[in-house]
Amino acid sequence: MKTISIAIDGPSGAGKSTLARSLSAKLGYLYVDTGALYRTIGYYVFTKGIDPKNEAAVQAVLPDIQVEMTYGEDGLQHMLLNGQDVTKEIRLPEISMYASAVSAHPPVRAFLLEMQRELARKNNVLMDGRDIGTVVLPDAQVKVFLTAAPEARAQRRVLELEQRGTPEPFEKVLADIQKRDWDDSHRPTAPLKQAEDATLLDTTELTFAESEAALLKIIEEKAGQ
Ligand code: C5P
Repeated sequence: MKTISIAIDGPSGAGKSTLARSLSAKLGYLYVDTGALYRTIGYYVFTKGIDPKNEAAVQAVLPDIQVEMTYGEDGLQHMLLNGQDVTKEIRLPEISMYASAVSAHPPVRAFLLEMQRELARKNNVLMDGRDIGTVVLPDAQVKVFLTAAPEARAQRRVLELEQRGTPEPFEKVLADIQKRDWDDSHRPTAPLKQAEDATLLDTTELTFAESEAALLKIIEEKAGQ
């Protein structure tokens, strides 16, 4: 069976995961949040007190890490780190920087690449990340680059963190987002960038419902070709 892949890339806080989760449920596709994979490695490195920027030190512990993705009865993606469910822990704000730092190392990207491709070979997927359309699934039938102004993304993240019970001030969230944007788009390996054949969707001025409708329209147009 030939599967269909939808790749959604873009910077943090552009609304990728919320939109992708909602649309994948409507389309009956498997939603794969690839940021969670890097977060799981970042979390391991954090718990071991390893400097996430030290590539050799991070590479040395990769053989000790088993990352699994499962789908709970709630339909949500759960991350298992050496058998332990770390779905909640990987969302702690400090883990974002660890995920971004470890994700710059080529051995870490290589470690996670096949797992992502395997999921797309076996399932119709809606996969979100930074390099899905450019590196992981260059042949995806639909590619979208989802973005929004940094201030709009920071404002959304502030609300999300508040709802999770881990509030952070706007200025800090904005500074973190800008740093992550810069790091993600300037790393030599698989940097964040729009694939040449991706459709750009800027959600700065759009509500969630408008963004969802715009994304669905792009998917229907492209998948129908
Ligand atoms: O999407 P999320 O914010 O959870 O991703 C955490 C970090 O993982 C990002 O800042 C980015 O550095 C990294 N990442 C990546 N490639 C992906 C997905 C995430 O490098 N496909």
